[in-house]
Amino acid sequence: MNIVLLGPPGAGKGTQARHLVETRGMVQLSTGDMLREAKDSGTSMGRRVAEVMARGELVTDEIVIGLIREKLEEGARGGFIFDGFPRTLSQADALGDLLAAEGQGLDAVIVLEVDDEALVQRIAARATCGTCGAVYNDLTRPIPEDGKCSECGASDFQRRADDTEEALRTRLLEYYKKTSPLIGYYHAKGLLARVDGMGEVDAVQAGIARALDD
Ligand code: AMP
Repeated sequence: MNIVLLGPPGAGKGTQARHLVETRGMVQLSTGDMLREAKDSGTSMGRRVAEVMARGELVTDEIVIGLIREKLEEGARGGFIFDGFPRTLSQADALGDLLAAEGQGLDAVIVLEVDDEALVQRIAARATCGTCGAVYNDLTRPIPEDGKCSECGASDFQRRADDTEEALRTRLLEYYKKTSPLIGYYHAKGLLARVDGMGEVDAVQAGIARALDD
């Protein structure tokens, strides 16, 4: 099963994708994580995208489609979860073509629906484990008191460079301008399922499971 997780920044796509990896043996393909890795490892592509990402703008379709193409070639027995990709209509077309070339397709597109107000709060409170990527939140899932990640034991927690108020404003604008048209695109293809992303993590997980098992 191949699925896309769609939704604005802070909607919980990464958290939910990690859960699907654990429970369904799927492979998470997060273009945001791939770009951050490229940035941290200092590749020339990483250097080119760093400023664009820090401002909260989208990097070029060509770069992200290239990243996804490489990963699709590796295959995934439990299927792929596309997290943060596609973000534009041309990325969506490219994904359809890439999957078709592998004799595959998309089975569902889940859109996580969250109020903008909640997004700002979630993002301002967000921290991630620099080692395993587990997501923490000062309000709902604080970093453990011993300062160690409860999933991998590391203690290198990070706040994202683009989790600032100004970058978030740009990220939201980019989402509404360029990514939200994908909701209509996938609805027309009969693939769209809307899930309330405002509840507790477990409730959202259950909503996604219902949508996928339908
Ligand atoms: P994310 O971790 O998904 O919030 O992505 C962080 C940043 O990486 C975004 O604000 C963009 O600058 C860049 N990015 C991630 N995925 C894409 C994509 N599919 N298309 C363009 N830019 C992306």
